[in-house]
Amino acid sequence: MSEVLRVQDLHVTLDGQEILRGVELAVPAGEWLTIIGPNGAGKSTLLSAVGGLLRPASGEIALHGTPIGRLRRRERARAVATVAQDPVVPAGMTVTDYVLLGRTPFISALGRESAADLDAVADVLTRLDLTAFADRELATLSGGERQRVFLARALAQEAKLLLLDEPTSALDVGHQQEVLDLVDQLRRSVGLTVVATMHDLSLAGLYADRLLLMAQGRVAAVGTAEQVLTEELLSRHYRARVRVIDGGDGPLVVPVRAR
Ligand code: ADP
Ligand code: MG
Repeated sequence: MSEVLRVQDLHVTLDGQEILRGVELAVPAGEWLTIIGPNGAGKSTLLSAVGGLLRPASGEIALHGTPIGRLRRRERARAVATVAQDPVVPAGMTVTDYVLLGRTPFISALGRESAADLDAVADVLTRLDLTAFADRELATLSGGERQRVFLARALAQEAKLLLLDEPTSALDVGHQQEVLDLVDQLRRSVGLTVVATMHDLSLAGLYADRLLLMAQGRVAAVGTAEQVLTEELLSRHYRARVRVIDGGDGPLVVPVRAR
């Protein structure tokens, strides 16, 4: 299977602080990898580095075998699309105009969007069941609807690697499932590779092929949900009291109250 992403000995320093300290990661085509780890572990920083949004101090990030430093902005945008943790919602912008931003890498510097760009946007809106919202102001949508629009913008970019930073943390359990099912369905139909971060450990285990546990800027564990969601690893790295039980579809992580 071809490799979509490889990260080798990645170090990132922000404001004089070493935030990522030798991260290693390889993601084959079609995989869904979810990064878990306590607040401040460096999950968002890792996604930003992979998306080319910050410059690593050292190490290498390769997309389809090419170091991202050698890709031009446009090439990078066609390889990898990011949905940030808390995307900016531009005031007064309609859903269609927002999703059209995903087509920026296809539009020449002085050009306007083409009919093909508008078709691509209409197609994505249909696929995500957003056609009814096409002319609505993005700011007036509910959290779940808006999350679908953020995904739509990333999909309109037509990149095969999708980076999702906490795509479900603002959503209720029904909308969480709706968004994750949708991503899973798109992964299969469009052939996407997904790297996400998530805080809900049980949910993370249910949807990912593999989990990667980050702690203090390093990879603490990587493997299947059964291998990573263990009481030992979670208590060590989250300083949490949890019990892991067999949920039938995979491990469930249940908090336990102190006595
Ligand atoms: P996570 O997503 O795992 O919660 P982050 O990657 O957002 O963690 O942050 C990791 C660490 O890097 C945190 O301690 C955070 O305060 C720090 N950090 C993030 N961005 C910056 C920045 N621009 N300047 C300095 N420190 C930062
Ligand atoms: Mg984060």
